[in-house]
Amino acid sequence: MQPCPLCQEKESILFHSYETFTLVMCKSCQLIYRLQVDQVQQEQLIKNIYDSTWVAMRDIYAMNTFKEHASFGALLLDMFFRKKGKLLEVGSGTGEFLWLAKETAWQVEGIEPSAVACEYAKERYGLELRNERWEMSIFEEDEKFDAIVFWHVLEHIPSPISFMKQVNSLLAPGGRVLFSLPNQHSLTNVLQGSSSPLFVEEDHLIHYAKRHIEQLMALSDFEIISLFSREEPTRLEYDLRIHPAGTPNMTERDKTKMMVGLQSGWHGHEIYCVAEPRHE
Ligand SMILES: [Zn+2]
Repeated sequence: MQPCPLCQEKESILFHSYETFTLVMCKSCQLIYRLQVDQVQQEQLIKNIYDSTWVAMRDIYAMNTFKEHASFGALLLDMFFRKKGKLLEVGSGTGEFLWLAKETAWQVEGIEPSAVACEYAKERYGLELRNERWEMSIFEEDEKFDAIVFWHVLEHIPSPISFMKQVNSLLAPGGRVLFSLPNQHSLTNVLQGSSSPLFVEEDHLIHYAKRHIEQLMALSDFEIISLFSREEPTRLEYDLRIHPAGTPNMTERDKTKMMVGLQSGWHGHEIYCVAEPRHE
């Protein structure tokens, strides 16, 4: 049995068996990960999932991506980064965030494994993404970045410690990493358990909660600057609209309270982390 990709514990318990894959939970740190996570055929998964249908879906939701994700990412850059220098995005998808970062004066580079997504980013936003999977060898030896960002990428990576160490080594002095990922303790996961849409995604190899990110960052020589969970306001509004029975006559004030509660209670849909290499 393959050990936990985070704490190396060998024992795990069954979380759930889905049709095509199985999730287990580490007995020691409660990380949830795919059984035989190191043997997943990622290239095929990427081809199957991030195809032209996916790009068409991204196209429909592009405005939402700008409003809910790209602009929030750009805001975090303004808050947590001292200067606008070279920025690398790992997994640029269809390019919305990278376009916005470029518009706000960053020198941008993006890596994206899906060829159709790269074509779209070029046509729609004039971005030249590198159509590659994450490999250290694609960088020049002295290539360094002031910011490395990735949105919902970490959960697709089978060996997170080695990945984060590589990210660490690519940062210029004073550089920082900024990323987001699904939260194992999100309200959706808590309410729906193993049938939550977040767990049934075949390419989500590892499901992290707050403590796992703290552990991962310590193991890869990072110091955390900010770590928080977030729920998109419109997503919550949507949930409230389709589940009115659960929230009878909820006032705006109560909704706001619930939103704040979700965030402070670490049940937001996403985890965000800002960190920098630990100074000895
Ligand atoms: Zn573990």
